[in-house]
Amino acid sequence: MANSAEFIWFNGEIMPWQNATVHVMSHALHYGSSVFEGIRAYDTPKGPAVFRHEDHMQRLFDSAKIYRIPVPYQKQELMQALRETIRVNGLASAYIRPVAFWGDVGLGINAGTGKPADVAIAAMEWGSYLGEESLEHGVDAAVTSWNRLAPNTMPTGAKAGGNYLSSQLISGEARRHGYTEGIALDVNGTISEGAGENIFLVKDGALYTPPVTACILPGLTRASIITLATDKGYTVHEQSIPREAMYLADEMFMCGTAAEIVPVRSVDQIDIGSGKRGPITQELQTSFFGLFSGETEDRWGWLDYVNAE
Ligand code: PMP
Repeated sequence: MANSAEFIWFNGEIMPWQNATVHVMSHALHYGSSVFEGIRAYDTPKGPAVFRHEDHMQRLFDSAKIYRIPVPYQKQELMQALRETIRVNGLASAYIRPVAFWGDVGLGINAGTGKPADVAIAAMEWGSYLGEESLEHGVDAAVTSWNRLAPNTMPTGAKAGGNYLSSQLISGEARRHGYTEGIALDVNGTISEGAGENIFLVKDGALYTPPVTACILPGLTRASIITLATDKGYTVHEQSIPREAMYLADEMFMCGTAAEIVPVRSVDQIDIGSGKRGPITQELQTSFFGLFSGETEDRWGWLDYVNAE
């Protein structure tokens, strides 16, 4: 895994990675006032392709709108900048991190209001977040003692920097106890999501995933899986799910841009199904990763080929 690349796009310019710096008094550093995206570009037979590029950029603008952070670029300009960042770094595949944040706008909590954000786009190589072997062998997860943010505290539909303090508590507690990932319940005690992943259960051949009202980030991987699974004839229920449904599921997996599609083999030390990756999880992985090898036809226009223009 590389944590950096040669070049980064910052406030309209491609510059050497080490030159993209901000002041220690940046508003976002003190108050979490940033919105960001996690996007992947895959190495396809037609060169690098950004997965659901426009949908991710739209979510960045939606997150900024919720927090009233003016992004001083158009969506298409940032998409162009993102492609350029992949190209100048010569990346065949990449994890891409656009971030818009309040920088040097003053120390008052509301000092940033109305002021334009600083914007950066970094692209680097990054393997699957929960480990390459996790895709096949699955991970052990546990419900953490930290609930997901309540809907009237901070909006989980915005992918904002401050929300990730909650994610750090969730994953940190799980990891300290020897699990790969933590699962949070929402304020009602029903399943919400992982620290950086949405959750699916499989029971009697149907899929179940918590609804957006369960204080989740509505993930684009989640949305893609719902489309792919429905297309294959599976019924997908977006509904409130009690904790014990995980223990009784036939299969379970987590999904997200960084983690991709990861089977969960146990929760709270209870084996899920056979305690191994299940057949429906594997089928969905095959059709998801097939989008990038060309084996799954991209009927939805999800791939944006970086070298096409
Ligand atoms: N939930 C949280 C809290 C996340 O950080 C992520 C990763 N962005 C997801 C879900 C999955 O979202 P996506 O599939 O869009 O990456």
